[in-house]
Amino acid sequence: MPVRQLVWAAAVILSLWFTGVAAQDDAAPAEPLPSAGLSLEDLDAAMAADDRPTLAAVLQEEALGLLPLAGFLALAFWSFFTKSERLKYVTLAVAVVYLGFAKNNMVSVVDILSVVGWNFPEFEYSIRWYVLGLLAVVSTVLWGRFYCGRVCAFGALTQLMDRIIPSRLRVEPPPWLERRAGYIKYAILAFAILYFIITRDNSFYRYIEPFWMFTLSGTPLMWTLLAMLLLATVFVRNLYCRFLCPLGAALGVLSSLTVFRIKRWQECQGCKICERACEWGAIRGGKIIKSECVRCDDCERIYADEAACPHWLLLKKRARKEERYRLAVVHTDKGGAS
Ligand code: SF4
Ligand code: SF4
Repeated sequence: MPVRQLVWAAAVILSLWFTGVAAQDDAAPAEPLPSAGLSLEDLDAAMAADDRPTLAAVLQEEALGLLPLAGFLALAFWSFFTKSERLKYVTLAVAVVYLGFAKNNMVSVVDILSVVGWNFPEFEYSIRWYVLGLLAVVSTVLWGRFYCGRVCAFGALTQLMDRIIPSRLRVEPPPWLERRAGYIKYAILAFAILYFIITRDNSFYRYIEPFWMFTLSGTPLMWTLLAMLLLATVFVRNLYCRFLCPLGAALGVLSSLTVFRIKRWQECQGCKICERACEWGAIRGGKIIKSECVRCDDCERIYADEAACPHWLLLKKRARKEERYRLAVVHTDKGGAS
């Protein structure tokens, strides 16, 4: 159709429309529309709300996608409650592959900023966000930083690195340095929250959190920083988690509320076995530093090992001594009787 005819057709349609609106205005001038007082954004939101699927429909649709997540979490809890080292490493490998590379589902400092800004995603479209967020918070209140020790894909990656890399390459920071370096993550968290409150900008998160690596998309600067971080992690165990992670810092603060804590024996005061085994630097003397402990179970396995833990060895020694004494008494009684 030639342009001129198109213009004419548009002009006629517009004038007919205006005439119709004017006629309606004349006919019913005082009748307020039901939407009076609503902005265009409100109307858009109302229309979107009409289109929104029901929760049941979303769950039905998402069920297949949520099953692997449920399976992974079941595995994580299974390994945690059975204290099985083998299952723990299976869980960590699945965390890296499934939650990291396949799904890129991780709680992040951005989520903390969302909570600070009271900006929650719609439940229907963000079920995984709520599942993982609630898991991180609730499990920390119940057991401590379970999320860090079992679920976070980056933490899982560094724990697997720690398992593979020969221990002779390790550099253990002196306790005074380790203690002070542990505060860096809290400073990063405080800075992130403050900066966000002032600017409402959260785009800096990729420079303080390496979780983007699982998407395999980053700038040359980000890849360079990540390579430096991973190289440093070869020498200093779990470097990022122990000293730099703002999410770990937030969970560390929350872990002061932990209900079910790791038990300690009286003998733990003078024993260094668990302290040396803890790859998170979370044991100092007989004490477990809750904010640093990620419930990796290493010390709990030693704690329960009757062949390694001095608590059990002393009990056995005492039992042997008592048995010897009992036998000696019986022998003496028999000698006296004959
Ligand atoms: S400290 Fe951070 S990176 Fe490490 S396991 Fe916890 S959340 Fe993940
Ligand atoms: S070894 Fe014990 S104290 Fe250290 S992180 Fe693991 S569970 Fe926590």
